Amino acid sequence: MDLNKLADRLIPDENVKELDYYETKYPLRDLEKGAQVTRLAPSPTGFMHIGNLYVALANERIAHQSGGVFFLRIEDTDEKRKVEGAVEVIHQSLKYFGVRFDEGADLCGDYGPYYQRQRAEIYHAYAKDLIKRGLAYPCFCTEEDLENTRNYQTENKLLPGYYGEFAKCRHLTEEEIYANLDAGKPYVIRLKSQGDVDVKHTFHDEVKGDITVTENNQDVVILKSDGIPTYHFAHAIDDHFMRTTLVIRGEEWLSSLPIHIELFKVLGFRLPKYGHNCSIQKIDGETRRKLSKRKDPEASLNYYREQGYHPTAVRTYMLTLLNSNFEEWLLKFPDKDLDEFKYSIGKMGKSGALFDIVKLNDISKTYMAKLSETETYEFFKAWADEFGTDEQKGYFADKEYMLKVLALCMGVGGKKRRKDFVCAKQAVEMISYFFDESFTPNYEYRFDKQTVSKVLQGFKNIYDYADDCSAWFEKVKTVAADNGFATDMKAYKADPTAYPGNVSDVAEMLRIATTGLSNTPDLWTIMQILGKEKTLSRLEKAINAL
Ligand code: GLU
Repeated sequence: MDLNKLADRLIPDENVKELDYYETKYPLRDLEKGAQVTRLAPSPTGFMHIGNLYVALANERIAHQSGGVFFLRIEDTDEKRKVEGAVEVIHQSLKYFGVRFDEGADLCGDYGPYYQRQRAEIYHAYAKDLIKRGLAYPCFCTEEDLENTRNYQTENKLLPGYYGEFAKCRHLTEEEIYANLDAGKPYVIRLKSQGDVDVKHTFHDEVKGDITVTENNQDVVILKSDGIPTYHFAHAIDDHFMRTTLVIRGEEWLSSLPIHIELFKVLGFRLPKYGHNCSIQKIDGETRRKLSKRKDPEASLNYYREQGYHPTAVRTYMLTLLNSNFEEWLLKFPDKDLDEFKYSIGKMGKSGALFDIVKLNDISKTYMAKLSETETYEFFKAWADEFGTDEQKGYFADKEYMLKVLALCMGVGGKKRRKDFVCAKQAVEMISYFFDESFTPNYEYRFDKQTVSKVLQGFKNIYDYADDCSAWFEKVKTVAADNGFATDMKAYKADPTAYPGNVSDVAEMLRIATTGLSNTPDLWTIMQILGKEKTLSRLEKAINAL
């Protein structure tokens, strides 16, 4: 059979050049020894899973730490999954978490185009070459044919797939092929696998260590009927010509590794190093399962932005999942830049990484407690501008006021910083009582109305904004004493039943009246921040509500 003629008939692409052309166009990168070229290769589905950040961070760290290159390739061969604006979403969400690409889709770079759909010519050139060398062939099987084969294999407990005797089109004669083509039958191009499933090799996976890999014997599709390549074929060509040295990708690809090894071999390309990282899992009742896009809001990268988690906190948490020695490093160097941590592929988890929101929250609290009130103001304001309600946006209009609120709630200047803030959404809701427009208290006192009324009224009568903290506290004590509450804690402890309560119960009533909450930072300071008018009007409001 004239395979050159067949290749031209099967793939009539005039743009295709000699293979050497591509080797020259995309030369080996001029990098120091040991520098790694890595990539992120997402499909433009519009959804960014936390797993995307996980794998992006690993690839980014390794490339940049080694003086290499980290690039973005868009794997848009599956038209059905493509969503308008998805690349923008990829850029935006990764940028938020500080993931920096050196080149790639919508960026500069000499190894593009970085959208697979724009690389048809290269895939066609190599598919043609495989056909010419008798290593690929057209397959005219219909969905129905394939289903029949599948059913037969299932019934007879045979390995599923298109291989050996089941690879019907592998054995078509020249006449049959041309008759099918002349009849206008649609076809795909399949690899003519040379592998043998009885042969096993040891493969060194950069994350999992040595694993056993069975040779591929499947005649996998390399070009679909519309001439678009499959992931298997496209990624092999792309990683070769983009000169990728290390592929860290999700472990869901591990089962396809034998196909990829064979593809690189028949294409005459050197196999890059592969590391298959584990999936992110969570505990769900009794079971441990993958974080699911459908069931778990925290699976989406957007979730962290909407909640207003600080990107550095999320990055820090991701590193605890990614490298087993990171936490130890963080304990030793809590104030160092995260990029100073020596990331190591060998320290990546071999089995599932367990996602724990409680731990993320702890890390976030600790991180937020390191920020100044001004940094916090800027961060929360940016969050509110994008995700906050109109009321919340309004909180930031009076910067001076907000800075005072934040300084108090963060314990700035105190002996120990408070760790109340987890993320912007939670924090902004937490401080809403400072703003009259959203002050809708649900007063819940532990004392009867009459007592509360007398306490609030009594305090209101003697409250003076000019009082310093101790003069203010003396007044609280006065109100306590006037209402029979103990002011001497020793006396109270000796005989608690002799009093309705003590001075701290009185302070609690004042606190609830002023803030709607029984637990807040220092009440005197809150009143100072609110100012005389607001404080008095809140006491009034509370009295009227009784
Ligand atoms: N497009 C593939 C995915 O989104 C990329 C896998 C890889 O990194 O090679 O899963």
